[in-house]
Amino acid sequence: MALSGLEIFKLLPKTNCKDCGVPTCMAFAMKLAQKKADLSECPHASEEAKAALGAASKPPIRLVKIGVGARALEIGNETVMFRHEKTFFHQTAIAIQLKASEDKETLLSKIQEIENYRVDRVGEQLKTDLLFLSQDGAGKDAILELIGLAKEHSTKGIILDSPDKESLKAGLEILKADRSAVFSRKEVSDEDLELVKTFSAVLVITGTSFESLENQAEKARKAGVEDLILNLEASELGRQFQNNTILRRSALKKNFEPFGYPLLTLLKAGDGTDLLGKASVGLCKYASILVLPEYDKAMLYTLLTLRQNIFTDPQKPIQVEPKLYSIGDPSPESPVFLTTNFSLTFFLVSGEIENSGTSAHLVVCDCEGQSVLTAWAAGKFTGDTIAKFIREIKLEEQVKTRKLVIPGFVSQISGDLEEKLPGWEILVGCQEAADIPSFVKNVKLVTG
Ligand code: SF4
Repeated sequence: MALSGLEIFKLLPKTNCKDCGVPTCMAFAMKLAQKKADLSECPHASEEAKAALGAASKPPIRLVKIGVGARALEIGNETVMFRHEKTFFHQTAIAIQLKASEDKETLLSKIQEIENYRVDRVGEQLKTDLLFLSQDGAGKDAILELIGLAKEHSTKGIILDSPDKESLKAGLEILKADRSAVFSRKEVSDEDLELVKTFSAVLVITGTSFESLENQAEKARKAGVEDLILNLEASELGRQFQNNTILRRSALKKNFEPFGYPLLTLLKAGDGTDLLGKASVGLCKYASILVLPEYDKAMLYTLLTLRQNIFTDPQKPIQVEPKLYSIGDPSPESPVFLTTNFSLTFFLVSGEIENSGTSAHLVVCDCEGQSVLTAWAAGKFTGDTIAKFIREIKLEEQVKTRKLVIPGFVSQISGDLEEKLPGWEILVGCQEAADIPSFVKNVKLVTG
C-alpha cells in the first residue's frame, strides 16, 4: 500500500542536509510519495527505512537490466513524464536486428561493423547498445550459429526472437550467463514463462491491444516474472505515438502496475524516410529500446545525435576537462589561445585552430561548461578567474611566448587581464571560431 508523505517523512533521517538535492526531508518525502524521486537519492536512508518504504520507494517504471556486470544495460527506473520535470535518464537503447536467414559471412561482417561503430561528438562516444537476433524462418542450427557469432564477436546485450521453443531453449542455454532478453511475438504461454524463469532472462511481451498487454503482464507477474518490457504493436506512426504515451502516462500518473515497465518499439524495414520518422518518434516518445530492422550508418548517425540531444541534461552543459591543450605540435614559442570548457565551444575553437594549419596552445578555463559570453555574464570568465587559472596550470613554465589571444566577444576584459597578468600582451581575437584561420593569417602571433 502506498504511504503518505508524512508517513514517509517519519522514516527519513530528518537532518535536512540537502544531499538529495531537495531543501528538506519533508520536501523529499513528498516527492517520494508522488513517485517523483527515488529513495536511493537519499544517501543517509537507513536499512530499516528502505525495508519499510518498500513499495512507496519503488519507481513506477521498473528498472530492468539486460547483460551482466559493468556492461549491463539499464533501462526504466523512471519517475517523471517529461524531461523538464527532472531530466530523462537511462537513454533509449538502440538495437539492430540480425536475421538468421542470412548467410554466415554477411552476419559476421555485420556483427563486427556494429561492434566497431562509434561516433565521437562533443567529447562523448556514441554507439549502439543491443543486438536483436531473429530466427526469421531459419532452422534451429542457423539461429544457434547466429547466437554463437554474436557471443564471440560482440559485447552487446542480446534480445532473442525465436518462435520455436526448441531453438529458444537451446539459445538460452548458450546465453545462460549473459542475462539476455526473450522477445515474445505471441501471447505469452506458461512454457515461455518457465523458460524465462529458468534462465533468469528478461521477457518482452507483445500485445495487439492494451487489454492483451495488461493480461499478459499480470500473468507474468503472477508467475514470478517481474523483469518485463512491453511492446504494443502499432501499424502507423500516430498510433505508435499514442500507444507509448498512454502506457507511460498510465505508469507514471496513475501508478498502473501492469504497465510499469520499459517500452520497446520494433520497427519494420520500409521506406527510408518513413522509418527514420518512426524511429525518431519512438526515441522521443518513449521507447526504452528501439529496434532498427537493419544496420544503416546514415540512420544511426541521425538517431544517435538526436538521442544525445534529448538525453543531455540541459542544466548541465557537456564539458571538457579544464586544462592546457596542445593543438597540432606546438613549440614553446607557439601562440596561446584562450576559451571556456563548454564542449561545443572547445571543439569549434580547437577544430578551427587545426584548420588554420598552425600549431598552438589552448588554455581551457573552468567555467562550469558555459560558453564564452554566458560565462563572462556569470562572472566566471573575468580577468581575475582567468589569471588565477593560468597560474594554477603554471602556463608560464610551459610556454615562452607572452601573447595570449582572448575570444573577441570578451574584448572588454583585455585591460583587466593585462593588469592581472603582468608581462603578457593580450590580443583580442575574432568573435566567431570560423574566423580563426584568417585571424591567424593576418595577425603576427609569433615573436621574432
Ligand atoms: S538527503 Fe536524506 S537526510 Fe538529507 S535532506 Fe534529503 S532526505 Fe533528508
